[in-house]
Amino acid sequence: MFVKRTVNKYKFIANILLNFVINNQSHMIQPFDDIYFMKKALQEAETAFDKGEVPVGAVVVFKDQIIARAHNLTETLNDVTAHAEMQAFTAAADFLGGKYLKNCVLYVTLEPCQMCAGASYWTQIGKIVYGASEPERDFVNLKTTLHPKTKYVAGILENECSQLLKRFFAEKRNLN
Ligand SMILES: [Zn+2]
Repeated sequence: MFVKRTVNKYKFIANILLNFVINNQSHMIQPFDDIYFMKKALQEAETAFDKGEVPVGAVVVFKDQIIARAHNLTETLNDVTAHAEMQAFTAAADFLGGKYLKNCVLYVTLEPCQMCAGASYWTQIGKIVYGASEPERDFVNLKTTLHPKTKYVAGILENECSQLLKRFFAEKRNLN
């Protein structure tokens, strides 16, 4: 009786361990998912943070490869149009040698504004994935039309993306 119970207990533990290994393996087999690329966009946002720029980062992905990395540069360039997405579109088109980004995915840590959503229309980008929602200048509520071929996904690493922005504005308030 005791032996049987002990064996069952070990079987139970072995099953938990096996499930753990299987779950993590499937994670290892698919490294190029939305979270993976959003983490890369977040790294760009952190670079912006360190420069005193509003921390928004973006990457453009083509066939599972990052072809452009960019972050907000509005202060550095003294240019209100220098949002991360605008930089990323220009860099991606330059890399591909063509202005359309049809089979590309834009990962950006903050929901695109009207300007960037408008620019994305002209790129005909395949998909936009964003992290934090932008409550004021967001393209969804302001009904900016994306290209009919552009899909979008919201809320990937939303918490990490918005925390970085909140930290930036909190630190800025303390300096003033
Ligand atoms: Zn923008």
